[in-house]
Amino acid sequence: MCKRGGLLITYQYVEHRALITDADCDSWQCPECQERLKDYWLLHAQHGASLFLGRGVKLFFATITSHENTRTFSQGASIFPDAWGKLHKRLNRTSDICEYLLIPEHHKDGRLHMHAVWTFPVDTRWLKDNGRECGFGFMNQIGRKHHRDECVESVADVGRYVSKELSKQLGDNVPKRFHRIRRSAHWEKLPLPDSESSAYDWQYIGSNGKQEMVIEECQRLHLQMVDIRTGELFDAVDLGTITLSDHVNAMTL
Ligand SMILES: [Zn+2]
Repeated sequence: MCKRGGLLITYQYVEHRALITDADCDSWQCPECQERLKDYWLLHAQHGASLFLGRGVKLFFATITSHENTRTFSQGASIFPDAWGKLHKRLNRTSDICEYLLIPEHHKDGRLHMHAVWTFPVDTRWLKDNGRECGFGFMNQIGRKHHRDECVESVADVGRYVSKELSKQLGDNVPKRFHRIRRSAHWEKLPLPDSESSAYDWQYIGSNGKQEMVIEECQRLHLQMVDIRTGELFDAVDLGTITLSDHVNAMTL
């Protein structure tokens, strides 16, 4: 269970109560949340891949290296948005279906590599030339190691590929709010489980000050605060160690 995520509250005025539960911090730096996020993205990758392959849409693995003038991960990360913006425009012209998952990797040489699963039907030659012109390095490849220019054959291959990349740590030299994984708008979303609680409008409580305000508000409105983790009346907890900047919502990119 995530220990630094704060609380969530939802108000049920008709029932004269407010429900309280834990919030996850959803940060890749949090050991508990990291495991959950990995599982989530792995399922997400496989779900999208199985829909694409089922419809006969071709998928490819791609590796894009940082420009050799970038020496560190953070240098690579700082030029990434511009370089990817340019390359993405070119890629979009190669296909009617333009979907991708991008996973940055902290390569053993210390630099940033980008791994992708995508629908763009380009080959290694194209990716070397165009990647280079857009500001990346030239050691780019379509297909896995020793499988240059292959097509993705199975959902299981996508699972292994994504799982391997997500297991690698990005290290400490990562700019704030750098996304661990990025996806195109229509990479098929995993349908979320239809739980009763997901229909509520949850608000986040990340500090003791906010918690105090919420408790006062509930007293004023005569709402009973129910802790749905225990089913008992809610007891204030110390949120003093949680800062808002820790609460990066990695699930919505
Ligand atoms: Zn957490």
